[in-house]
Amino acid sequence: MKFVSTSRPGNTISFRDAVLNNLPNDGGLYFPMEIPELPSPLLHEMVGMELHEVAAKVLSNFCLADIPQADLEAITKRVFNFPIPVKSVAEGISCLELFHGPTFAFKDIGAKFLAECLSFFNISDKQKRTVLVATSGDTGGAVANGFLGVDGVDVIILYPKGKVSELQEKQLTTLGQNIKALEIDGNFDDCQYMVKQAFADDELSERMKLSSANSINIGRWLPQSLFYFQPLLSGETDITISVPSGNYGNLTSGVLAMKMGVPIKSFIAASNLNDVVPRYLDSGVYSPVPTIATVANAMDVSDPSNFKRLLTLYDDNHAGIVEDILPFSLADGGILETIAECYENHDYLLDPHSAVAYEALQKKGRGGVFLGTAHYCKFLPTIEKALNKKVELPDFVNDLMDKKKEATLMDSDFEAFKAYLMDI
Ligand SMILES: *Cc1c(COP(=O)(O)O)cnc(C)c1O
Repeated sequence: MKFVSTSRPGNTISFRDAVLNNLPNDGGLYFPMEIPELPSPLLHEMVGMELHEVAAKVLSNFCLADIPQADLEAITKRVFNFPIPVKSVAEGISCLELFHGPTFAFKDIGAKFLAECLSFFNISDKQKRTVLVATSGDTGGAVANGFLGVDGVDVIILYPKGKVSELQEKQLTTLGQNIKALEIDGNFDDCQYMVKQAFADDELSERMKLSSANSINIGRWLPQSLFYFQPLLSGETDITISVPSGNYGNLTSGVLAMKMGVPIKSFIAASNLNDVVPRYLDSGVYSPVPTIATVANAMDVSDPSNFKRLLTLYDDNHAGIVEDILPFSLADGGILETIAECYENHDYLLDPHSAVAYEALQKKGRGGVFLGTAHYCKFLPTIEKALNKKVELPDFVNDLMDKKKEATLMDSDFEAFKAYLMDI
């Protein structure tokens, strides 16, 4: 399979180069040249299989030219190595719990697969890479964890001092091995700016091979489509799937799964107040407005990058999109009420992101599956506010909370960061 850019589909490139390049330089995103159709006997055969086996079969359609089948099977076994259960929450409503990985969020899968691909390609070129990640708290942990112990790759995480939760900070600063954390005396934008400067610096690029592990890398996007096979594996078909959405990587990878043949009835684009896509679904007009800060902050995206992939999946046809995807959005007050309602009535704790998707199914009066994109323990202050009481962290995070933080404190100053990089 070759890949093209959503902006200029003329030129094709290999999976390997699409992963290593991160982004095409024409403003688009990488996208498969064609969508493979999985034959229905194969889909039937999948019922009852393990997700990692299904992943190797599905992903081979995209990467076989660059990763031989046996290696791909070993990789998917390491990536899909934690349970992704479907749990019944309310009458006709289940949660696909994607948060049992190392950082308790669905991004663990995409980040780990990307790390495995880079490591596989590195072994063949024997070139050490340094991955730079700026994080506002949540997603950097998934990337860093994905690369933990991966040969030939060092990861440097920059996070804003005092602006991440205690649990998030532990996730970023206690990994050790090939992962280093820099605590920047500034905000997230400062961290991101320092990383951008580093990529633009000639002296640094001569000295070391800098890489990014951007969330829109094709290596993070493709494996997320496997989430949408999981209900099928337990025999559920033609369901509605509600997806907490921000940058729309997750939902568009679900559409990819559907187009490959997974029997899904419809999707709900569940957003917080940053509702540019729901508004587009309603009106046919795509008009981004500035970002609004919400309690579901991993979805605070006002101009989602993956909108381009959505359009490409449907050949720019709005009517086709609205046939498959229903709009929904929920303000902070509604998110807090939903967390309280679900806890009181069903004894189930939702994180603020998953709460939006759960409420979408309730409001549309549809049964179905919503994606649980994070564990509630990552957003404890919001949960406590919603329930108006103190909530204990679950036992399984005790080990993490006991670990010792190791981070280098640094001013938000590019020269200091550069000196640090030149020195390692
Ligand atoms: C990143 C994230 C989302 C949004 O996913 P997209 O693929 O960006 O739409 C939703 N929930 C959580 C917890 C996240 O971390």
